Amino acid sequence: MRPPALNPLFSPVETLQGFGEKSALPLKRLLGDEPRVLDVLFHLPSGIVDRRMRPKIADAVPGGTVTLEVTVEEIHAPPRNRPKAPTRIVVTDGTGWVTLVFFGANKNYVERQLPIGAKRWISGRLEQYDGMLQMVHPERIVDEAGLSKLPLVEPVYPLTEGVTQGLISRAARAAAERIPDLAEWQDPSVVAGRGWPRFREALRHLHLPLQPEDAAPESPSRHRLAYDELLSGQLALGLVRRHMRHQHGRSSAGDGRIVTKLEAALPFALTGSQVRAVHDIRGDLAKPERMLRLLQGDVGSGKTVVALLAMATVVEAGRQAAMMAPTEILARQHLKTIKPLAEAAGLRVAILTAREKGREREAILANVAAGDVDILVGTHALFQEIVAFKDLAFAVVDEQHRFGVHQRLALAAKGEAVDVLVMTATPIPRTLVLTYFGDMEVSALHEKPAGRKPIDTRVVSSERVDEVIAGLHRALETGSRVYWVCPLVSESDLVDAAAAEERYIQLSMEFPGQVALVHGKMRGAEKDSVMAGFASGQTRILVATTVIEVGVDVPEANIMVIEHAERFGLAQLHQLRGRVGRGDAKSTCVLVYKPPLGETAEKRLKILRETEDGFRIAEEDLRLRGEGEVLGTRQSGLPGTRLANVEIYGELLETARKEAVMLLDRDPHLTGPRGPALRTLLYLFEREEAARLLSAG
Ligand code: ADP
Ligand code: MG
Repeated sequence: MRPPALNPLFSPVETLQGFGEKSALPLKRLLGDEPRVLDVLFHLPSGIVDRRMRPKIADAVPGGTVTLEVTVEEIHAPPRNRPKAPTRIVVTDGTGWVTLVFFGANKNYVERQLPIGAKRWISGRLEQYDGMLQMVHPERIVDEAGLSKLPLVEPVYPLTEGVTQGLISRAARAAAERIPDLAEWQDPSVVAGRGWPRFREALRHLHLPLQPEDAAPESPSRHRLAYDELLSGQLALGLVRRHMRHQHGRSSAGDGRIVTKLEAALPFALTGSQVRAVHDIRGDLAKPERMLRLLQGDVGSGKTVVALLAMATVVEAGRQAAMMAPTEILARQHLKTIKPLAEAAGLRVAILTAREKGREREAILANVAAGDVDILVGTHALFQEIVAFKDLAFAVVDEQHRFGVHQRLALAAKGEAVDVLVMTATPIPRTLVLTYFGDMEVSALHEKPAGRKPIDTRVVSSERVDEVIAGLHRALETGSRVYWVCPLVSESDLVDAAAAEERYIQLSMEFPGQVALVHGKMRGAEKDSVMAGFASGQTRILVATTVIEVGVDVPEANIMVIEHAERFGLAQLHQLRGRVGRGDAKSTCVLVYKPPLGETAEKRLKILRETEDGFRIAEEDLRLRGEGEVLGTRQSGLPGTRLANVEIYGELLETARKEAVMLLDRDPHLTGPRGPALRTLLYLFEREEAARLLSAG
């Protein structure tokens, strides 16, 4: 149970002073479906505006933020024949003049705010234009009464469409009033030594800063919060790991009879790193301890085959294996890869997703329970309580970061001392492996399978999309198959689907009968038939939202067009691009961006043009992520921490890991004096699965 002291933080944002159901609505776009007070507080500012500069106009220096005390002198509404022109308002303080510029503003509203002759305080960025001082869209306009409430130092928050600074800072200020004063969980000597504030104070410094240094990246407050998060993560991992180690494992040593048949059935030779990975996993499975291993490999590096050979090992030992994928498409893709090989080797394979229903489902469940299925492939449907195995010995979890720790445990709980292999297509830098997976064993597939050709990656402005389409005409004549990925406009499937649909209609007119559409709102069977049509070549252009992101394998597809490429994260673009370049033909990836291109987005696209090395891309991704300009946290390819930017606070990670080990060595059940506070820390960062292991003893 979550400690009641945390309740104020876990209540919905609607409960904040001044927020109702309606005003909280835009916050959902920024903070997720059911934002809580905690989510507001953990949405940390990305910068600071300093409004302490209050010069006379004559002394004001353009280029910075200033707050001016002025009187309104003239109002120039846009001329009748140019209604789009800005409204200009001239203000003065007796030492000079500044023109305030409002584009597309409601004239009445502006005049009400700034009537001629009124005294106002105007705060915003001062610029020099045509030899005149001007301020475009002042950030704050207040009268005498408002001035007393104008914060001198204001945090600036990362935003998303439809959410304003005003709204989020109002929410943050209200939320800052709700932070309970929690018992200190950190070691008092560490806190004193580093000069850290308490948790509550740290959050308040960031959201209600009194001076710019309070919220700077090097501030003690940020370090403290980053460390809180890292320590909670390391504690949780330590608990899960100890729990798994405690349950002793079983040895599943294979005799090689099925693996040999599988290898004979493979139409290709395994790469060196595939051979090594299989060898290591088989070694782990044969040991009496439980296996917890990560298999890292770039898109298309051939992880599925490795998983299959590993699963065959436990079947040789008379037991069962399960393979869990994050999406239905991917689960079916795995089945498609595995099935012909499995059949050649006499393995019995079945699939279980939300789509298997009624009689069919019952039959599958009965076969799994009776041991008549050797390998069960599926989605999260696999860890529903009703699924019972005869003797599950090995679970493969694909694309791990989409699943939480508890799901991994749920699947592992379906058998006796289940060995776990986690597969990820996002090459994860070593520091992050530690953060997210703890000290797991790691196998990495570095080589691409033989015969893969480099992908020609191009960056094109959306103003030239017609040329891209003309290029497709030529390409289709030579037999190409094309993925056309539509922009991630929002976090909502519905909106994404609409954008894809529009593009689909347009392309269908250009290429009648050759275009198909797949998106997240479609039903499973529908999706499959569309994918099948594309795989068989019945349709040649597949318009898609990011449903195709992971795992789909159509070797004939050799062109990938990604619209609004600037909106995708680096890891995601890399994954998408990995859908092509799998067959014999030369492949092209066209990254279409909407100008103007931001600096970070430009760097991202440049890196993609330069390299296909997933490990390098992962490192660059990590580096660029620190530079902000990220649209939504969920778009990033790596599992994210909320407060600790590993790039900046990475040095704290190792300290946190050591402290967690020491704490759990000394007090494995957290029953000592610091115990209750540390449990609170776990709940605060929502590591309740780990906390639950504590109460289980
Ligand atoms: P991923 O690592 O992305 O899951 P897959 O396992 O889906 O990659 O493999 C991608 C494709 O490469 C599949 O069609 C698979 O059959 C093929 N493949 C796997 N290993 C090799 C290999 N050693 N040589 C040639 N092709 C291979
Ligand atoms: Mg895969």
